Amino acid sequence: MVRNFEIAVFEGDGVGPEIMEPTVDILEKIAAGSPSYGLRCTAHPAGAAHYAKTGESLPRASLEAASSADAILLSAMGLPDVRYQDGTEISPQIDLRKAFNLFAGVRPVRVGPGQRTPLKMPEGRSIDFVLIRESTEGLFHTQGIGEVTENEARETLLITRDVSEKLFKFAFQLARDRKAAGRGPGRVTCVDKANVFRAFAFFRSLFDAEAAKHPDLVADHAYVDATALWMVQKPWDFDVLVTENMFGDILSDLGAGLMGGLGLAPSADIGLEQAVFQPCHGSAPDIAGQGKANPLAMILSAAMMLEWLGLQHDSNAMVHDGQRLRDAVEAVLQDTRLLTPDLGGQNTTAGLGQAVADALR
Ligand code: NAD
Repeated sequence: MVRNFEIAVFEGDGVGPEIMEPTVDILEKIAAGSPSYGLRCTAHPAGAAHYAKTGESLPRASLEAASSADAILLSAMGLPDVRYQDGTEISPQIDLRKAFNLFAGVRPVRVGPGQRTPLKMPEGRSIDFVLIRESTEGLFHTQGIGEVTENEARETLLITRDVSEKLFKFAFQLARDRKAAGRGPGRVTCVDKANVFRAFAFFRSLFDAEAAKHPDLVADHAYVDATALWMVQKPWDFDVLVTENMFGDILSDLGAGLMGGLGLAPSADIGLEQAVFQPCHGSAPDIAGQGKANPLAMILSAAMMLEWLGLQHDSNAMVHDGQRLRDAVEAVLQDTRLLTPDLGGQNTTAGLGQAVADALR
């Protein structure tokens, strides 16, 4: 029996529609070749340009469509010149995380053989770790409602037991899955600032309580400042890192830097029921409309979506297709001529998307 999945697509702003087009083409090609599942990708309006036109950044109908979809694929939203009256930017991607309680922001960092990285990699080393950024609270808790007076500005960091317990459970499960797949030693590192802040001592105590339930896995701690150093000095030592929202926001860009740039950094925001898959980068307005945007982070996010759907719905075929798509991206990365300018090539967004489609086995 063919199982059909509804994918809510948000093409977003800036380069968003440019990188989404080849991604949806690839997904449709993969699904068309599968006897066991189908994908229906439906685009819905949201974002800064939509807000500028209509006064709405995330229309109710779009939110409802996202809520009833099997998964959400989002490119990037926001334009620096389109702002609310308080001076902050339109960011429906963050609203979606809160609306659907997408507490686990999963940011894989991989540098395989032949891939460009600013690091000098020791012989035989590769980088393959996952940063999990809590995505609904932390220092983003008062986003949009921080207090600003003439002489003071105040934002509140929130760590809750409920979200932290779900987050840590998710992190240990991911480490177990990775270990089973031969992709890590089964180690989870809690990244915090427990030496200074009570909130992080609380975060760490909840982590330790979850760690005690997983004697087959290794649990350790690291301060966020030291983690930034080690991500540059010995990133090959990490397996699964789990951290607060703002720390994760910053460290995930460092992770993208290790991979040679934002154009290769995918992500997933995962909750208990729903998940959004999107690249780590923004709408790149400086290169929008020029056919220069790298679609690989978007395509890799789509690969994560296939794997997540496969795991949710017991479909080995989908998990396998996610891996096939990742392999196709890795194959294309070996040939600089196929790549966009950010990765040292001359290819266009559409050309690179086509190269990935051609490399699918
Ligand atoms: P950005 O990630 O859009 O761009 C940073 C730099 O990386 C730019 O030089 C850009 O050209 C380059 N870049 C980004 N994606 C690329 C790609 N796919 N291919 C090649 N080069 C790429 O960050 P920014 O300039 O700080 O933000 C631009 C807008 O995007 C802002 O409005 C911001 O709020 C928004 N934003 C959205 C998200 C999201 O939707 N998740 C994330 C970050 C920023």
